[in-house]
Amino acid sequence: MTPADSGWSRPDWRTRESLLLAPWAMHAVDSAGRHHPEPPHQFRSPYQRDRDRIVHSAAFRRLAHKTQVFTGYHGDYHRSRLTHTLEVTSIARTLARALALNEDLVEALALAHDIGHPPLGHAGEDTLAELLRDEGGFSHNAQALRIMELLESRYPGFPGLNLSREVLDAQATRKKDGSAPPPLLEAQVVDAADSIAYDTHDADDAIELGLVTLEELCGLPLVAEAAARVGERHGSLAGVEARRAILHELVDRQVAELIRESRATIDELGVDSVARVRDVFRGSAGTPGRRIVAHAPTIAAGKRQLERFLFERVYRSDRVLAVRVPAQRQLTELFDWYVARPDRMPAGYRQRAEAFGVRRSVADYLAGMTDRYLEFDHARRLAPGS
Ligand code: MG
Repeated sequence: MTPADSGWSRPDWRTRESLLLAPWAMHAVDSAGRHHPEPPHQFRSPYQRDRDRIVHSAAFRRLAHKTQVFTGYHGDYHRSRLTHTLEVTSIARTLARALALNEDLVEALALAHDIGHPPLGHAGEDTLAELLRDEGGFSHNAQALRIMELLESRYPGFPGLNLSREVLDAQATRKKDGSAPPPLLEAQVVDAADSIAYDTHDADDAIELGLVTLEELCGLPLVAEAAARVGERHGSLAGVEARRAILHELVDRQVAELIRESRATIDELGVDSVARVRDVFRGSAGTPGRRIVAHAPTIAAGKRQLERFLFERVYRSDRVLAVRVPAQRQLTELFDWYVARPDRMPAGYRQRAEAFGVRRSVADYLAGMTDRYLEFDHARRLAPGS
């Protein structure tokens, strides 16, 4: 029997959302829409289209060859910016479903959250920020908005991806300059998932690369507690088996605790609408603003200890810092080369140089490059005798 024979008919996205989403979720029927109005899609909800537009963008594809923390020189086990993004999305979807939030919107926000990163991770970002110091600076969060609103050109009739207002607002919130409305729970979930993902996978990558040991990590209370739980369940494990089980437990514990804590806050504060979510974030006289999706104090303190450890032992390690110097030199030399020869950039960047200035447009071009294309282009443009 086919669905048609049975009298079954596919509920459209409006029905699905009205049945599945909580009153504190962002319902797509309440969206502020797109800058360039478009007719609704026959099958896909507005946020599903946003999600698809991000996946089909060049900026998203290039995340595969952009540094998260470690570059290609460090090996091939560790996360790239793309696999980090997919881990964030996976955690964010679990949180969204458990809190009856809009999963399509959460997925769009998670997949897009790092598309503004230039090549070579934070070394690249710091270099571009310094080069554009007198032109408004550079940050990956602001760059993601430029990509969404201007730099991607995939559709006739408008520049950028013409995403829903809620996606743009969520990205604007990440700039932390007060220009965006308070974040929806869907955006708060993605921020939390980002932190859960990188705290755990950076620890995993760092052990694999020999920067830290599992025993050292188990000296931190949050990790020790995960190790104790694994011990209770599996007895004594060793080596890679122990590491995988403990780090998996670390993610699972943070996710479960975050869902419980956020649900309790929703109940305690009587959160029953998106407007209330925003009021809680803003705070009021005598009540400080707060995030509803937030860890309990003990977990938050444990995460801060873990992050301090990773900062000292991983992000500031000689092996990570050793990549910074050549990265900064490559980017700076190529930046200067294109600023002197803007006509050598692709047509779109040449045209935008007239509106936004040569230095901004060169930064847009370089920021879009993958690590390996930057190296290729640097060799091609600046090799002796070229
Ligand atoms: Mg991230």
